[in-house]
Amino acid sequence: MTTLQRMLDYLSDLVGVRSCAVCDAELMPGEKGICIGCMTSLPRASSHHLATRYADIFANAVAPQGLTEAWFDYDPTTPWANMIRQAKYNNNPRLARELGHAFGLELQHRTGGVQADVLLPVPMHWRKRMTRGYNQSIEIARGLSEATGICMGDNLVALRSHSTQTHKGDAARKANIRGKIGVDAPHELDGLRIAIVDDIITTGSTIAECAAAISLSGARPRSLGFITLGATVLRK
Ligand SMILES: [Zn+2]
Repeated sequence: MTTLQRMLDYLSDLVGVRSCAVCDAELMPGEKGICIGCMTSLPRASSHHLATRYADIFANAVAPQGLTEAWFDYDPTTPWANMIRQAKYNNNPRLARELGHAFGLELQHRTGGVQADVLLPVPMHWRKRMTRGYNQSIEIARGLSEATGICMGDNLVALRSHSTQTHKGDAARKANIRGKIGVDAPHELDGLRIAIVDDIITTGSTIAECAAAISLSGARPRSLGFITLGATVLRK
């Protein structure tokens, strides 16, 4: 964390009481982003299930599937979705960082050391970043990096702006995002276990596009995977 970020965090603590991003209860000293109660009852996702569900993403990639981790089962109709909304749309980069940090600590504890060498946040086009003020994926990766010691790379870049994915079907999403992500300095990634970082994984089309861009770039990583906060629950 930079000195400036620490200072801003310190000042925002002085100015007001912070509340839990899920249940809105006042946070106690030591609680960050969400309260202990919500942390305990978080509907955690199964990494085994995710590995099977998203195996297709990496089927044609340049490297075998690596880490497939999401913190919780994301359902937009439950209060758990609040924390993603707040981290993404509510001018709250600190929350995104804190959630990444909390998940990073948990992953580290659960796996006895997270099996990745570099975190690559899903890029955001500069125009969108200017409107939103930050890229939540970078903030989540920053928190993950602080908790795990895994470095964050800036090799994934947005080549051109794409419209929002929210109201599009699977095929439309794929067409929408194709060719919009590029890779800087691909050979920096040779031999590394890559974890692509995003806020939510739904169909997996965004992560797939990143994996395809890495594959086409000439990079030769050791494995390719992802870490997200949420994995959207499939509706039958
Ligand atoms: Zn709470």
